[in-house]
Amino acid sequence: MTTTPLRLFNSLTRQLETFQPVHAGEARVYSCGPTVYNYPHIGNMRAYVFADVLGRTLSWKGYALTHVINITDVGHLTDDADAGEDKLEKAAAEKAQSIWDIAKHYTEAYWADVKALNIRQPAHWSIATDYVPQMIAFAESIAAKHCYELDSGLYFDVSTVADYGRLARAKTDEGEGRIEAVEGKRNAADFAIWRKTPPGETRQMEWDSPWGKGAPGWHLECSVMGEALLGFPFDIHTGGIDHREIHHPNEIAQNQAHTCSDRSGANIWMHNNFLVERSGKMSKSSGEFLRLQLLIDKGYHPLAYRLMCLQAHYRSELEFSWEGLGAALTRLKRWIYLFENFREKSQYKCQEHDRTELARRVNQINEFDDAISDDLNTPKALVIMDALYRIGYNIEDTLDSLSYMDSVLGLHLLDLSRTDLRIRPKDSQLTEAEVEDALNRRRDARAAKDFARSDAIRDELAAKGVEVMDGDPLGWDWKLG
Ligand code: AMP
Ligand code: ZN
Repeated sequence: MTTTPLRLFNSLTRQLETFQPVHAGEARVYSCGPTVYNYPHIGNMRAYVFADVLGRTLSWKGYALTHVINITDVGHLTDDADAGEDKLEKAAAEKAQSIWDIAKHYTEAYWADVKALNIRQPAHWSIATDYVPQMIAFAESIAAKHCYELDSGLYFDVSTVADYGRLARAKTDEGEGRIEAVEGKRNAADFAIWRKTPPGETRQMEWDSPWGKGAPGWHLECSVMGEALLGFPFDIHTGGIDHREIHHPNEIAQNQAHTCSDRSGANIWMHNNFLVERSGKMSKSSGEFLRLQLLIDKGYHPLAYRLMCLQAHYRSELEFSWEGLGAALTRLKRWIYLFENFREKSQYKCQEHDRTELARRVNQINEFDDAISDDLNTPKALVIMDALYRIGYNIEDTLDSLSYMDSVLGLHLLDLSRTDLRIRPKDSQLTEAEVEDALNRRRDARAAKDFARSDAIRDELAAKGVEVMDGDPLGWDWKLG
């Protein structure tokens, strides 16, 4: 257990609060998961890198963590409007595929990104469609006092709970402006709890309910799965800042109704800011976006993207650029090079040992703890880690401290090798073996003082996009140009 109290920014109170677990020694966290109608973009993945650092920090501090991430495979409508279409139904119709196949395909794609970014597996991946009976029961528990029925579905009347929308930063009026009007709604911000299948239509996903055949509203799933898996109140609820405006205020309203209290359901609500492109917010619905696989195809190791995320505070906007990603990759390479050298010298083996004892020995650990405990200040924590190898501790201590810090950062610093970081771009013309073969031939030519031949091999490689790096301080003998 580290010593500095953990302080986190609560979007609900708009201030830093010291983390006090609901259940002694435990931390229960719910993160809104992806809507699996398309591939996740790297902006979405920023939300899960943030949730992962939060989870790792809680574990590092000695709390027994139960983390839930849901998979939204039903109910999320286009443009948050209750009159819009279900994103999965729409994707299935466009691709002429079954909704279940679409959900499976994109869930697996998301899980592949989770793995590549070294995001730890949560205790539960909760799938929304597995919880429909519980959603119906939840809706029944609040229907009489808080809901009203229209032809299109069952709606939540936001005026029936205290202080609706207190979480939202935008004034509710502005938020309301984004909600498409549904004929007969009492308040513009009222939202669907149950969406009836229109007469004469059949949806691929529909269930019987007291309000007729239909499907649950999107906000319902997170209230239901949060309560089912973590119990109310749980400790922390996370999501991207877009959720602070509509999805989370609606979840809170449902939770207040269901618990017959003013309690929001979670003690702390945390929101990561957006990853943006120069042209604006990265968006999945626009159809054009950057996927992690594209970064890999271009030769960037996925953990360079994780590092890029950690270099910004989670509450700051982060602008994506290839230059920024390149700089993060270089920083990662520099560390891996140094630590690989240390490891070679010391025969160090990453091992479980008494980390508390270690924490006492190394001041750096305390500074690192201060930074992380200050609302997960990863940029500062990285600078402290950067200083480790300059301080001149013995190698064992340095590697020990590093392994300790990396359990929060999750950069695989002690497992990765320089070779792992060198990813061949998809469109490159040479395989690694071909490059190595050419370099061996060039070495032989130089040994034989045949410099003309050595230069010719270098030019040959350059023409195929490989730059030979004689005397590189980090020990790389080639890189892709
Ligand atoms: P979705 O799949 O659209 O439901 O989004 C999954 C998660 O990604 C949610 O927590 C969103 O708030 C978050 N998110 C969406 N776009 C971005 C972005 N550009 N940058 C960071 N987080 C995002
Ligand atoms: Zn949610």
